[in-house]
Amino acid sequence: MAYTVKIDKQSCLSSGRCVTVAAEAFGFDGDELAETLPGVASVPDERLLEIAKSCPSYAILLFDEQGRELDLTS
Ligand code: SF4
Repeated sequence: MAYTVKIDKQSCLSSGRCVTVAAEAFGFDGDELAETLPGVASVPDERLLEIAKSCPSYAILLFDEQGRELDLTS
């Protein structure tokens, strides 16, 4: 994985979509908001991009190796 993944918890709608499609990489914290799991490190960038784009509130943020946030809406 080259991308760094962060969850914008204020935007997470607890839809569970990321947890359903990639349970090895995403789970829920005690407030039922998404959080990354250690397994996220082994998810290929292409798949991370796909998952982040499918989040209904764009709460999954991706950053490239230079620390720039990817624009998921384009
Ligand atoms: S897909 Fe998005 S809104 Fe749904 S649980 Fe994951 S981060 Fe939250």
